[in-house]
Amino acid sequence: MNKVNYQLLLDREIARITEGGRVPALLMHSCCAPCSSYCLSYLAEYFSITIFYYNPNITSREEYEKRVEEQKRLLRELPSKYPISFAEGPYEPENFYEMCRGMEALPEGGERCFACYELRQREAVRYAREHGFDYVTTTLSVSPHKNAEKLNEIGLRLGQEFGIPYLVSDFKKRGGYAKSIELSKKYGLYRQDYCGCEYSRKQREGMRCNMEEIWDVYDGNGVKTGRTMERGVPVDGDYMLCVHVYLCNPEGLFLMQKRSESKQSHPGEWDVTGGAVLSGESSAQGAIRETREEVGISLSEENLTYIGRVKKRRSFIDIFLARRNFTVEDCRLQREEVEEVKLVPGQEVLRMEQDKRKRERDYVDLLRKMLTVSGN
Ligand code: SF4
Repeated sequence: MNKVNYQLLLDREIARITEGGRVPALLMHSCCAPCSSYCLSYLAEYFSITIFYYNPNITSREEYEKRVEEQKRLLRELPSKYPISFAEGPYEPENFYEMCRGMEALPEGGERCFACYELRQREAVRYAREHGFDYVTTTLSVSPHKNAEKLNEIGLRLGQEFGIPYLVSDFKKRGGYAKSIELSKKYGLYRQDYCGCEYSRKQREGMRCNMEEIWDVYDGNGVKTGRTMERGVPVDGDYMLCVHVYLCNPEGLFLMQKRSESKQSHPGEWDVTGGAVLSGESSAQGAIRETREEVGISLSEENLTYIGRVKKRRSFIDIFLARRNFTVEDCRLQREEVEEVKLVPGQEVLRMEQDKRKRERDYVDLLRKMLTVSGN
């Protein structure tokens, strides 16, 4: 899947601006103070920025006011090379609910969210045009839950419609999301744990119940001890069980996924689908669940061939070959986990894993076995 590198495009645009010795006026739509913190600290070096607060999606007036006040406080406290101004649109939740009609039950990250991006970006672009700004953009791409391609596609289309340059971005790149968390801590910003609308709040509440991941504890022989642990690192002598799923299509191409830039461990690294097996699950069930959650591909046990088990310092990894007809277009990525996916031939999978696992001969041997079983 060839993705546009929006960060690179932004770099080029900034280089053009600085070469010309200009400080253009930028209207930046913001959803909240925490998300804007990194975007401001980055772009206020090159632009004279006005933050535009237009968010009719927010659950209640009380929550809305709270976010507005935090936004204004951040602008007062954040040092910047050029002054940053603030402009507020109307709070009109009826427009949001009208837009959502028929999409209320969709999960976060789908069509309802794309329409929500457009509702807010349209107002920002309209305002920027009316008030003579040189550029317009939004902070939304800093979040790993937001789809940067969609945001830029919508922004560019609206920019054309209104006749104003849209500044493309993917602010989560180069650790932007992690930096926004650091800045939020530094300025003690109120950081809500849901996107903004009532649907995202309910979804987050549901996730909180499920998120208490409980794992079975195994002994050094890979036998369940009868004890469980909460998500974390097993103590000395204890082991957890993980799965790695090598998903292969009839053309003999395997799915590789790039870890999200916001992950704490190995951000941006190419990997296969996998994760921890939950308490009560078999490793095959864990493989099916992880594949559905991370890349949106549904498997059944008939698709799976168990290849073998590798013992690590505190875990066992069960390796599966999964055979199924699919293309990258069928994948629905879990944005907080997966940045992008691509299909590669089996020998390329082996090469990539060998590079990563120089001292893991038993793992690489199982990979060779997996390729033989798959006929590659
Ligand atoms: S989850 Fe966020 S982006 Fe999606 S509709 Fe709700 S407020 Fe808008």
